[in-house]
Amino acid sequence: MDVVVATNNKGKLKEFRALLGDYFTNIYSLADLGLNCDVEETGSTFEENALLKAQYVKSQTDFAVLADDSGLQVNALGGAPGVFSARYAGKNATDESNRKKLFAQLDKKTDRSAQFVCVLALILPDGKLIYAKGETKGEITLKEEGTNGFGYDVMFHSSELQKGFGIATEKEKNSVSHRSKAVKNLIENLTKYL
Ligand code: IMP
Repeated sequence: MDVVVATNNKGKLKEFRALLGDYFTNIYSLADLGLNCDVEETGSTFEENALLKAQYVKSQTDFAVLADDSGLQVNALGGAPGVFSARYAGKNATDESNRKKLFAQLDKKTDRSAQFVCVLALILPDGKLIYAKGETKGEITLKEEGTNGFGYDVMFHSSELQKGFGIATEKEKNSVSHRSKAVKNLIENLTKYL
């Protein structure tokens, strides 16, 4: 089966290509097919936002569409930034400004535990909707470590890897990440359906 990945995030797309390669024949980006995913993420859960993106892109193509919504939940902040991870520092936020805000919010907090969460919504050519979810736990570091990855990676120390995602290789991150666990869960759910 061919699939279109509904994201404009180059970091996510690179990881999806590596993770989905064994299961799908062709993995297209939005740019490959001239599609767009300019839909407002108005949902209050990862599930709602993943569905909004998948439905929006599916209305433009006959291919299967895979959308994800993901983010970082910090326990001492009641789960923030959560669904607001991409725009934590405001409308024109960048990865840098989001990280700066998160460091400031965690100043003097002793509990720095956090988890990345990824929810996937796959809409098949026949219209069937399949959800999947993955989580990975860790701690927010006291300062940035490494330069690998994207988003909040350089401030996330993975409990499973016992090293930061900013230091880990792509292969190491993919072996424990929320996105790879969500893809594994997706393949299980898809196999049950097919
Ligand atoms: P969205 O899913 O496009 O709404 O945005 C998710 C945001 O969460 C990204 O822009 C990143 O800031 C953050 N995020 C999600 N997954 C990761 C990851 O694997 N590493 C670092 N940051 C991530």
